[in-house]
Parts: sequence; C-alpha cells; structure tokens
Amino acid sequence: MEVAKAQITQGALNAIFNDTDRVIKDFPVPVCQVVQVKPMGAGVDGQAERFRLVVSDIQNFVQCMLATQANHVIHDGKLTKGCFIRLKNYQANEVKGKRILIILDIDVIESLGTMEKIGEPTAVKVEEDVKPTNTSIAGSGFYGNKPQPQQPAAQDRALPSRNGPSSSSSHATIYPIESLSPYAHKWTIKARVTSKSDIRTWSKPNSEGKLFSVNLLDESGEIKATGFNEQCDALYEIFQEGSVYYITSPCRVQIAKKQFSNINNDYELMFERDTLVEKAEDQDNVPQVRYNFSNIGELQSIEKDSTVDLIAVLKEVGEISEITSKTTSKPYSKRELTLVDETGYSVRLTIWGKTATSFDASPESVVAFKGVKVSDFGGRSLSLLSSGSMSFDPDIQEAHRLKGWYDSQGRTSNFASHSNLASAGAAGGRQDPVKTIAQVKDEGLGMSEENTDYFSSRATIVYIKQDNFCYPACLNENCNKKVVDQNDGTWRCEKCNQSHPKPEYRYILALNVNDHTGQMWLTAFDEVGKLVMGKSADELMELKENDPPAMERVFEDANCKMMTFKVRCKTDTYQDQARVRYSVMSASAVNYAADALKLAELIKAYNID
Ligand SMILES: [Zn+2]
Repeated sequence: MEVAKAQITQGALNAIFNDTDRVIKDFPVPVCQVVQVKPMGAGVDGQAERFRLVVSDIQNFVQCMLATQANHVIHDGKLTKGCFIRLKNYQANEVKGKRILIILDIDVIESLGTMEKIGEPTAVKVEEDVKPTNTSIAGSGFYGNKPQPQQPAAQDRALPSRNGPSSSSSHATIYPIESLSPYAHKWTIKARVTSKSDIRTWSKPNSEGKLFSVNLLDESGEIKATGFNEQCDALYEIFQEGSVYYITSPCRVQIAKKQFSNINNDYELMFERDTLVEKAEDQDNVPQVRYNFSNIGELQSIEKDSTVDLIAVLKEVGEISEITSKTTSKPYSKRELTLVDETGYSVRLTIWGKTATSFDASPESVVAFKGVKVSDFGGRSLSLLSSGSMSFDPDIQEAHRLKGWYDSQGRTSNFASHSNLASAGAAGGRQDPVKTIAQVKDEGLGMSEENTDYFSSRATIVYIKQDNFCYPACLNENCNKKVVDQNDGTWRCEKCNQSHPKPEYRYILALNVNDHTGQMWLTAFDEVGKLVMGKSADELMELKENDPPAMERVFEDANCKMMTFKVRCKTDTYQDQARVRYSVMSASAVNYAADALKLAELIKAYNID
C-alpha cells in the first residue's frame, strides 16, 4: 500500500478546482485512485456507452465522467475499482453546484494493481471566484470504434503528458463538444454538421416564430444546436450538411430536451445573437458522420422503435403524397422509398417534409441513412427521423461493396419483403401506438369515416355492465351468430339454417376503463371476456341462473384490474347517429417490470442524471 500511496499526487484534485497555477507546476499529470466505476445507461438505443468514476487523491474525491474516447481502458479490463490512474487530459466542470471532472485521456498504472480505498477522502470544495483549470485537447484522431489512421493529429497523441490547447490564429482554444456545460466560459468548438432540419414555424395565441436545428459532431461526441427567429434567419443558409464549422460562444448551453432529440448529450446549444459561426478552412480532421449499419435482412430481429443506420440500394422512389397529421392536424408531405441489399430483402422507408419534396436521387443509387426508426407496421418498415440524414453514393467501403454486388447480381434478383398485406401506404407507421385516453380523444382516433385506427392503452377497469354481458350464439364452429330461442327447447341459427338443442353463450362486454387522463367505454368479445372475467360466458350464465350472488362476485373480482388493451376504433352509424366504437382486439396483464423500465426511461428524458 505504501508504494501506491507514495505515487498518488495528494492535493491535486483540490488544485485542479481551486489553484490553477499550482496544478500546472506541481501536478502536471495527477495520479489518483479509482474508488468507484459505474456504467451510465450503457449502449441502450444505440447511444454511446458512458462510464462514471469516482477518483480519490487520498485528501479529496471527485465525480468523473469518462469521455467515450477513453472507454478503451474499460474495454481492456484495465480500469476497475481500486486501481490507480494517471490523468493525462481532463476538463474540470461545475454542474448544478457539483464538481465534475471529465477525463479525456487516462492511463491505468497496472504495476500498482488494485487496493481498497486508501484514506478517508472528502468531496472537493470550490472556493468562491476561482475558475477551475482545464486542459484542452487537440484533435486526437480517434472517434468511436473506428480509428482513422491517416489523421495528422496522431502525433499529438504521442506527447508524453497533457496536450496544450490546440490553437490557430483566430481560435485560441478548441474545446471538445463533450466538455461543454452551462458553466464553461469562453469556448470554441470545431464540428461537422451531420444533419440540418427544415425551418419549422409555430403560431400560438401568445407567440409565433421559427426555428431550425443542426446536429454537430467532433471526436468527443455530438450535440444538437438550435437557432430561433433572427438566429434562424442569420444561420440557416450558412450551415451546410457535411461541412465543418468553428462555433464560438456566446452561445447558450442548456439541459437537453431529450424527448426531442436522439443525440446522447446531457446538453444542447441555443445560438445567441453574438454567436460566431465560421466555416473551417480545413474540412478534414473532424470525423464524418459515424454509422453503425444494420442490414435489411436483420431488421426482423431488431426491436420496434429502435433507431438504426442503414446503407442500401434505392430500388424504387414513390410519388410525394400529402397527408394530415392526426397529432398536430397539420398537412405534411411524405415519400416512400424501397430499399434492397445483398441479404435478399427489401424494405420500405418513409421520408418526410422538405426531405421528401426535394428528394431527387435516382433509382439504383446507394444511400446511407443515419437515424431511421424501425416500426413493426406490416412486418418491418422504416421512417427517417427528423434528426436523421441521408448521404447519396457516399465514398465509403460499404457503398462500393453494395454497388459492386448490385451491378453483378442485385439488379436482376428477386427480393423478399418483411411486410405482410397491411403495409400499403403506411411504411413507418405504427399499428398500435401507445396512447393515453385523452390522446385517443384529442387526436380523434377512429373519427374519420374511411379509416380504422389502432392503438394500445394501459388502463384500469372501473365498471363492467351486467346487462346483456353475453348473447346466445350458434354452436357451429366459426359461426358465432346470435341464435333465437324457439321456445320449444331449440335455438335457431338463421345463417346456418339449423336448430341447436342449446346455445353457446359468448361475451359482449361493455367495459368502462380509466387512466390518469380520462375514461372511455370499450367493447370486448369472447376471448378477451374470458380473460377479464376468468370464466366462460356459459359458466357465468349458469351462475346467473343458479347462484346470482356468486355471479355478482365474479363481476366484483374482475373490477379494478389493470390491463394493456389493444383497441381498434372506427365510426359507425346507427339510426343516423355516428359514433366511435372502441373494440378490444386483445388484452394482456400489465408487465410491471417492463412498464417500470419504460417509465424510468421517460422520466430520465426530463433529467440529466
Ligand atoms: Zn350458425
């Protein structure tokens, strides 16, 4: 223990946050002990995996975030609880009053092994009016899982200790995107625009305006940036997808609204009046869009609502169609593309808005898509997210391989489809989106004359009508028609033109269900009825005849069940009265564990921790 203890730079963590001069002089490469390692939402939904550490210099400890470019020490199995590290490159941050060190480059001192926590360190305190010290990185040429071998910046990485700030005449210090926080002071980032949205406008009783957003990428990560009104006018034309820019503060860094973004960053940028945006003179040295391709054949095994990247040959380009959003009542354009690849499968992908109207690639192009959502409508179909992007005939290995395959055999191949019959005109749609009862009503589901809508809701049964809970049905298989009591001991089916000695009772239940947003009436038929009541309708009719209190108890027991209902809804007209009927297609017990996880994800989208 003494050997390790002697190596630790005691006081370094305090100096990093409170004594800039001293850290440069005395602790050029701080050595600390790792006392905790924790993954944060590792790798779900295609997000980058991240790790949080607590490190100690015996006197103090501090929370750290490992930059993704430094994750290799975890993957190598070197960084574990109790080990010792050299902090070669880091960035000190203060977030909501918490001290956080972002570790950009790190060595594990393997010769020291691992040990129980040494000493009783306390949390680093920040003295008033002291700016924490940072080391800034130069481009390291490393991004994600794909090293880019010809990066000139590789020599920077070979420097023995902390790199000085990278500089150019006009941009003193380039910060990595990953180090930006609301507490970062003067900064410049150098980033590539991986996608640019259309201009969107809004008009509400008390405000109207417009906005656009771009996704920005550098070696350390990605961030979304949005420009409103004047900034939208000033910057929209300047940003071009694929180009590299310097962006210099003042520019607001705020907590990301993750529900509107598929980027894994706790923060996002909002351009301000004096934000400086300049196209970089050298367009290299910043990674291109990072892809993690799936192929069409494997889509079947990818969970719906996942986001994937895809590269494929464009087989057919559909016409533009205008449809009206049920959610916003606004019209928008869409276009369907049919894509194929060498797995022998084809799939439909829907593009939206201006991307759809301005689409002009010809069939047989190779297209790389970043950020498409997988839907299970009609087997499998895809939809390009508004934050997603397309690249035509990109100069990447996968594209050349596909082109070669298509020219040699793909052009004349037949392709299997994931879809079944229902897919026409609705690629990327969802057959049974999860809705609250209020959403079902507000969005007018089932209210159009021509369409049938589907949704799924989690709700609690609060009342079941006892009158006419079932009807006497024909005994013949697949008939299910109502039979009429002939009062001679037989029951007659008009359709089958046949009399039966008894009917089979089948449920037609009227269920009143509630959730936190409202209540509605559902109609449930025999299969679902059995599930809800726990008995067949025949059994329940027998109780009704012979033991009415027992029947009452069955109804009571069925009440207050929480279930997930898949519902079909459609308007029907009865005696000139149009009304929406909500029919339960299937019902299942709530899977509390799975639902709790979904809820936790939803809550997480409102929080940075
Ligand atoms: Zn019949």
